[in-house]
Amino acid sequence: MNNDKNLLSLSLDELETLVTVLGDRKFRSKQIFGWLAKGIDSIDGMTNVPVKLRESLKDSGYYIGLPKVAAEQLSGIDGTRKCLYEFRDGARVEAVFMKYSYGNSICISSQVGCLMGCTFCASTMDGKSRDLTRGEMLGEVLKMRTLTDEDINHVVIMGMGEPFDNYDEISGFLRLINDSAGVGLSLRNITVSTCGIIPGIKRFTDDFPQVNLAVSLHAPNGEKRQLTMPVARKYGYDELMKACREYTEKTHRRITFEYALIKGVNDSEVDASELAGRLKGWLTHVNLIPLNEVKGRDYKTAEGSSVAAFKKVLEKNGVAVTVRRTLGSDIDAACGQLRATRG
Ligand code: SF4
Repeated sequence: MNNDKNLLSLSLDELETLVTVLGDRKFRSKQIFGWLAKGIDSIDGMTNVPVKLRESLKDSGYYIGLPKVAAEQLSGIDGTRKCLYEFRDGARVEAVFMKYSYGNSICISSQVGCLMGCTFCASTMDGKSRDLTRGEMLGEVLKMRTLTDEDINHVVIMGMGEPFDNYDEISGFLRLINDSAGVGLSLRNITVSTCGIIPGIKRFTDDFPQVNLAVSLHAPNGEKRQLTMPVARKYGYDELMKACREYTEKTHRRITFEYALIKGVNDSEVDASELAGRLKGWLTHVNLIPLNEVKGRDYKTAEGSSVAAFKKVLEKNGVAVTVRRTLGSDIDAACGQLRATRG
């Protein structure tokens, strides 16, 4: 049994064990699991669950760990909603709701802060305070669904934190949100984004072949990557590419490479040619991201002309590429910025 007393962290099997231990019948677990998936915020709101069982749950220290909203920003342009969530211990993380033509998407955080130290990122400025639990990640999604009163069709784990530095909780979250007795979100509608932790990529390939994988690449070679991403010193570029190829070969799924274009650092046509050479003929998709400038960091976003030229080189070489639509440009859209300004 999971030791976390947040009911949102419990699988249906764990809930079944719990209600049995508390002296009720197994089918109650499905009722509770269903209530939780609806985003209910109090145990007393579970009206078809006997009062005695509700009281036993509370007496045993169980609670529903939905976050509070400490601050939020709503874009007047496109409906992007950015929330600064606060959990019971005061830990704060960010989540962003975005509307796309193919459905609504939420980008959630997996850790409070981050240890990875990417030099262009606001989330890592104060290091990492702790990992998020599976139930807290589920809480990020449920809370956003309640706030927006909209369906969530896609979940992207690309907010604050490195998912593969918190592998067990990420796995637990994926199983929880996929359970058809609860939220029932298809694993195919979930994307996990890593900065390139190779053992995590290998494990993930075996454990979750239906889940989409995105890798924050941000450079065409190891030397350049090391300039902005300390993780590149531990895991070499060629070795990373090999692990990514294994993912596409084993899962037959396209892999996404995130590439934030930073003016004068990684945005030249030479960089684009080198990247194209590596990715040619491979089941990939490059997502070019004009860098969100972060207060306290020197980097500048690439010029529009450089973004277009970079894209053209990739296209000429047959590499699938898109430029990420800038959502919420009237709010602090970059990961970690809302927390940095309100923290
Ligand atoms: S970009 Fe991602 S992995 Fe890198 S420091 Fe920021 S949150 Fe961590």
